[in-house]
Amino acid sequence: MKLFAADKLRQLGVEIFTAQGLAREKAEFLSGTLVEANLTGHDSHGVTYFAAYSNRIKNGHIDVNAEPEIVKETTNSALIDGHYAPGQVTAKHLIEVAVEKAKENVVSAIGAFNCNHIGRLGYYTNWAAQQGVVAMLFVNVGGPSVSVYHGMGKAFGTNPFSAAVPTGEAKPFLVDYATSMVAAGKLSVARAKEEKIPLHWVKDKDGKPTDDPRATREGGWLLPFGEHKGYCLQLLTELLGAVLTGSRVGPDPDRVPPSTNGVLAIALNPDAFVGLEALKQGTDEIIDYVKNIEPEPGERVLVPGEPEWESKEQRLRDGIPIPDSTWEQITKLCEELGIDPEL
Ligand code: NAD
Repeated sequence: MKLFAADKLRQLGVEIFTAQGLAREKAEFLSGTLVEANLTGHDSHGVTYFAAYSNRIKNGHIDVNAEPEIVKETTNSALIDGHYAPGQVTAKHLIEVAVEKAKENVVSAIGAFNCNHIGRLGYYTNWAAQQGVVAMLFVNVGGPSVSVYHGMGKAFGTNPFSAAVPTGEAKPFLVDYATSMVAAGKLSVARAKEEKIPLHWVKDKDGKPTDDPRATREGGWLLPFGEHKGYCLQLLTELLGAVLTGSRVGPDPDRVPPSTNGVLAIALNPDAFVGLEALKQGTDEIIDYVKNIEPEPGERVLVPGEPEWESKEQRLRDGIPIPDSTWEQITKLCEELGIDPEL
């Protein structure tokens, strides 16, 4: 496992995606979001996607020339056809429209279909909160990998949810997770590092708990988090992210490209309520209150968003650790594209 500076990885991503025909500005955004995932500690959604997205470009699943297009619009809403552009390009458009409409018209709801994988949701909700807007994302994932509560076998994707609320002095408040025990990418990371996983993440093909991250490739499945409560949110993200937006519904893996996302963003302008400054102050007070609660012995009380913030500070300072197998994949890809991975 080697350590890499964020800037170097970002630049490498730009070279990789422009070499495959993506416009420089879009490649910079795409590569920036992936490296930001590594910085915030979510390696499952980081530069490991340099190779995965390149395969999807090669297979025609990602169209580097496509532009997302609003096909239905009101003052408070929009429905976007992603036309299978890189998912990050569509999600950027979606969140920008959501923020703009919420600022003008108090609340907004923006959906996207034909949308490729958008990566780490927290990138977009965090950005919206930095613009002074509360934002939520409900996302379905096309390929099934997760069972339903008490069900045998894969039924839905990892269907993530994210929400961010503006803060003042405090670190960002950011909820961002898959409704499965973990994002599927964390199993890939465990496989790359040849690590075992906790027994409560996955069941094998016979429905028995397993610590083998390869089990989901051998008939096993991920579990929804939080028993029936996580399962409820898993289905809600399917209904809002996919059914409401007209995206592909989970149990139909063969129709369209892999790991597409159906996306619904809801944005709220605090000026319609207590106002931005009062919201920031109140959020900071709640965070402060929580941070002053006595932790259990040997534990720390963290606020959602804090682990990402801490990871970013540490990795900007010390570098991003990349497993050898991931780096090998990247260097092989660079060779194919005629790029010097050492830049
Ligand atoms: P996770 O289990 O690591 O949970 C992360 C969330 O929990 C963050 O909000 C974090 O701040 C919070 N958190 C962690 N520890 C905490 C603590 N001790 N106290 C308070 N809050 C704490 O996330 P995950 O489910 O493995 O998902 C990882 C990433 O994968 C996310 O960024 C998600 O958006 C992404 N994802 C994307 C897709 C897609 O199709 N685009 C699908 C699934 C997941």
